[in-house]
Amino acid sequence: MAVNGGIPASRDVPDPGPARTRRPLTETEKRIIEHQGTEPPFSGEFVSFFEPGIYSCRKCGAPLFRSEDKFDAGCGWPCFDDSLPDAVTSVHAGGGRRTEITCARCGGHLGHIFNGERLTPKNLRYCVNSLSLEFRAAPLPIAADAPR
Ligand SMILES: [Zn+2]
Repeated sequence: MAVNGGIPASRDVPDPGPARTRRPLTETEKRIIEHQGTEPPFSGEFVSFFEPGIYSCRKCGAPLFRSEDKFDAGCGWPCFDDSLPDAVTSVHAGGGRRTEITCARCGGHLGHIFNGERLTPKNLRYCVNSLSLEFRAAPLPIAADAPR
């Protein structure tokens, strides 16, 4: 559709996606996300935070975890027993007992994954730095069993 004056709307203007509006990482966030750092336990904003929504990568905005999969492991970091499909990559560090987890899209460091702890039926614990995450509240109440 033509706008005033008959000039067609440009098709070359990219969508203002999340990448255009992201603020730069702080020095502390860089230390964790780009240099495999770990925030102090019980320091993160999401340790005791259980609102419904989606947790995304702080660096690139890729959705990573759902609030439904978050649980309180008492360890001082936000923990999940599942991730969104193909959102998180496990990296076996050489010789170490811990397995690093990173954002599958940008490779940003998230934390570590542990299994066999029997904390939840899925028997997995994604232990994630709050500083590696950003939270978006669910737009609507989650009502999976609502009448249709
Ligand atoms: Zn990312």
